[in-house]
Amino acid sequence: MGQAPDPVKVGRKYFEWYYRSADPRDFSVTSLPSREFAFSYFGEEGMRRHISFGGLEELAEHLRTAIPRHAFYSTAYYRDPGAKDMEEKGWLGADLVFDIDVDHVETPCKELHDKWICKSCGASGWGSVERCPRCGSEAIERHTWVCETCINVARDEVLKLVDFLEMDFGFSRHELLVTFSGHRGFHVHLESPEVRELSQDSRREIVDYVKGLGLDARFLTAKTRGGYKLRYEAPLGWYGRLARWALIKVGSENPVLSLSEWRSIVEESVTREAAAVDEKVTIDTKRLIRLPNSLHGKTGLKVAPFSVDELENTSIIDRAKVFTEGEVAVRLEEGPKRVLDVDLGSGGVLTLPTYAALYLLLNGAKLLKFEQR
Ligand SMILES: [Zn+2]
Ligand SMILES: [Zn+2]
Repeated sequence: MGQAPDPVKVGRKYFEWYYRSADPRDFSVTSLPSREFAFSYFGEEGMRRHISFGGLEELAEHLRTAIPRHAFYSTAYYRDPGAKDMEEKGWLGADLVFDIDVDHVETPCKELHDKWICKSCGASGWGSVERCPRCGSEAIERHTWVCETCINVARDEVLKLVDFLEMDFGFSRHELLVTFSGHRGFHVHLESPEVRELSQDSRREIVDYVKGLGLDARFLTAKTRGGYKLRYEAPLGWYGRLARWALIKVGSENPVLSLSEWRSIVEESVTREAAAVDEKVTIDTKRLIRLPNSLHGKTGLKVAPFSVDELENTSIIDRAKVFTEGEVAVRLEEGPKRVLDVDLGSGGVLTLPTYAALYLLLNGAKLLKFEQR
């Protein structure tokens, strides 16, 4: 027998230990006094926003004493970031930010950890569905979890985006700040002065480009004897990607093909190379985004920053895990078969690494016991 643990009490205790022992410099963000901050706290509904700090020490003090469950800062810079009214804040510009989330990418492991329940007919199952396979309803309740496989799939999407930012837009990888979101994806931040004043429309065009939206074989190719060829042979941008796929598919970088054959090469190239970014996040010039090195309140994982080189060569999950010491005995009534890098089998009484037990608790698994060993 055991007692159901209280996620608010237990979570706050772990988060308090983390924020009290962290190095304040970990929470450093550029132009900190010009940013808006927002937090939600354990045991409280909603989010408190329009908060500003004079400097890093003030922010670190708030984290140490208020122990937020979630911590965000604005991608925008303001003259008066603490003003309650968005108009009065005085918008000065915003970083260019991309969000990549595994929710938008198919992964085989969803069968192991994601559950859906139809709110109309009560049917349920593992994996991810758009609509109920029994009654067709779109009123689906989802319980989603993340494992190392999903995180690595999301990481590969980030690397596709980095390829566009470096090769097509000419940014250096050293200008990019990549953070694991602490849950199911990544954020890519660009803070260069030349992006700060980009309008929403310009940001949307960048999204369309990296997603390969509107690429049309008719305009990318020109008619020649016997068919169509790419208009440009320079190995740059989407032309370069199409040339590569033409080489793979038909053995030549610029073959003479029918329009429909070019269309299928365009489609293949977009499927394989476009980056699955969330448009809403990039075009929002007043976005709140997770504070680097803060903890995610539904996972207990760290919003860990990575350089592009580290992204390629480091275990994401190892760096995001914070509570790696000790083990916790849990009784899992019903839940996923695998989370993070831990197999849970069919549940029951389990002894888990602390970080995995905390994730189950914070993300709403049915636990009847939580005993730190
Ligand atoms: Zn149904
Ligand atoms: Zn997974």
